[in-house]
Amino acid sequence: MTATRDDCLALDAADPLAFARDRFALPPGVIYLDGNSLGPLPRATPAALAREAQDNWGQGLIRSWNTAGWIDAPLRVGARIARLIGAAPDEVVVADSTSVNLFKLASAAVALRPGRRVILSEPGNFPTDLYMLQGLSRQLGGAVELKLVPRDRIADALDETVAVLVLTHVHYTSGEMFDMAALTARAKAVGALALWDLSHSTGAVPVDLIGAGADLAVGCGYKYLNGGPGAPAFAFVARRHQAELRQPLSGWMGHAAPFAFVDDYQPAEGIARLLCGTPSVLAMAALDSGVATFDGVEMADVRAKSMSLSSLFIDLVEARLPGVFQLVSPRNAEARGSHVSLVHPQGYEIMAALIDARVIGDFRAPDRLRFGFTPLYLSHAEVFDAVATLAEILRTDRWRHPRFAVRQAVT
Ligand SMILES: *Cc1c(COP(=O)(O)O)cnc(C)c1O
Repeated sequence: MTATRDDCLALDAADPLAFARDRFALPPGVIYLDGNSLGPLPRATPAALAREAQDNWGQGLIRSWNTAGWIDAPLRVGARIARLIGAAPDEVVVADSTSVNLFKLASAAVALRPGRRVILSEPGNFPTDLYMLQGLSRQLGGAVELKLVPRDRIADALDETVAVLVLTHVHYTSGEMFDMAALTARAKAVGALALWDLSHSTGAVPVDLIGAGADLAVGCGYKYLNGGPGAPAFAFVARRHQAELRQPLSGWMGHAAPFAFVDDYQPAEGIARLLCGTPSVLAMAALDSGVATFDGVEMADVRAKSMSLSSLFIDLVEARLPGVFQLVSPRNAEARGSHVSLVHPQGYEIMAALIDARVIGDFRAPDRLRFGFTPLYLSHAEVFDAVATLAEILRTDRWRHPRFAVRQAVT
C-alpha cells in the first residue's frame, strides 16, 4: 500500500526537524525540490547581508577586517562546516569555488606523490571535476594522465601508478553514494591519496571524514548549505597532511604573514595555506547564515528524513505513474544520497511544465529529471502533492505545449 496524504500528514506531525522550516523564506505555493542545486534563502540572510554592508562596510570601513572579524571568516565559517562533515575545526577552510579548490587539492596531491602518473576518476563524474583534472594534466605537460574507470571497477584500478583518486561522494545525477571509507582505505593501501567532492553530500548525508581516514575533500556552499547563488566553497585537508601540502595558487592570503609584504612566498601554518586571494566578505556572510540553518540539527535526523522523503517519492511515482519513468537512482535508500533522478525521453518538457505548476526540480541532459529532498524545509505532504502534480501533467499532456520545449540557458 502506498501512502495516503493523511499518512504523510501523520509523518509530518511527528517530524523532529519540523522546527527548521521556519528558518527559510520560501515563496508560498511553491514546492521546492531543487535545494540540492541552489538552497533557498534563509530568513536571516537578508538582515545579515544588510548588517555586513551597512554597519561593517558602511561604518567600519577598512577597520572591519579586524573589528568585524572579516579576515578570520574563511577559517571561522570553515570550522562551522567541519561539524557537518566529521572534520576537526582546523581542517576546513572556505575559499574560492569548488572547481578551483578541486584544482588546488588535486595539484597538491600529485605533488605529494612524485613519480606517479595517474589521476583516477569515473566517467560521468560532475563535468567541472573532469574538466579541472584535464586542465591539470595539460598544465603538467601530460606527465600525469586522467584515467576514467567505471565505478564498479575503481577499486581494482587502484594500483601503484595512481597519485590521487578523485570521486564525487554522492553522484550529481544518479544520487548513488560511494563507500568513502572502503575506497579511501583501498587508495591508502596502494599509497595513493583520495580526494572527495562532497558537493551533494554536505548537509545532505552524514559524512565522517575523520572516521573514513579521508585525506582531502572539497564541497559546495550554495547547495544544501544554503549559502546563496555562487557562494564560496570549502576545502578539507586532514591534519596529518597539512604541513607538507603545497597548493599551486600561492596567493598572499595563504601566506604565513600576508601583511609582512615580503617578496617570497611562505605558506601559512595549517589549513590557511589553502587560501589564495581576498575572501568575498558579503558572500561569506551569506554562507555563514546558510550554514547556521543547521544549528541544533543532527545529521542523523536529516538522514532519516531524507530517506523517508525520497523513498516516499519513488513509491508514489511508481504507484501513480507505472512504467512512465525509469528510476536511475538506487532503490535502496542506504545507497542513495538525498536526490532522485528519473529518466524520460521528454524529460526537459515535463520538468518545464512541472516548474510552471510551481513544483521546482531540475533537468540534467540528456534525459534526467532530478528531484532533491531537503529535510530542513520539505514535508511528506509536499512530496505527496508534488507527485500528484506530476501525475496530472502527464494525464492531461500539459507538458506537450510548445512553450515547454524552449530550452533555457540554465536547466
Ligand atoms: C555543484 C558541483 C560543483 C560546483 O562547482 P562550482 O565551481 O561551484 O561551479 C562541483 N562539483 C560537483 C560534484 C558539484 O555537484
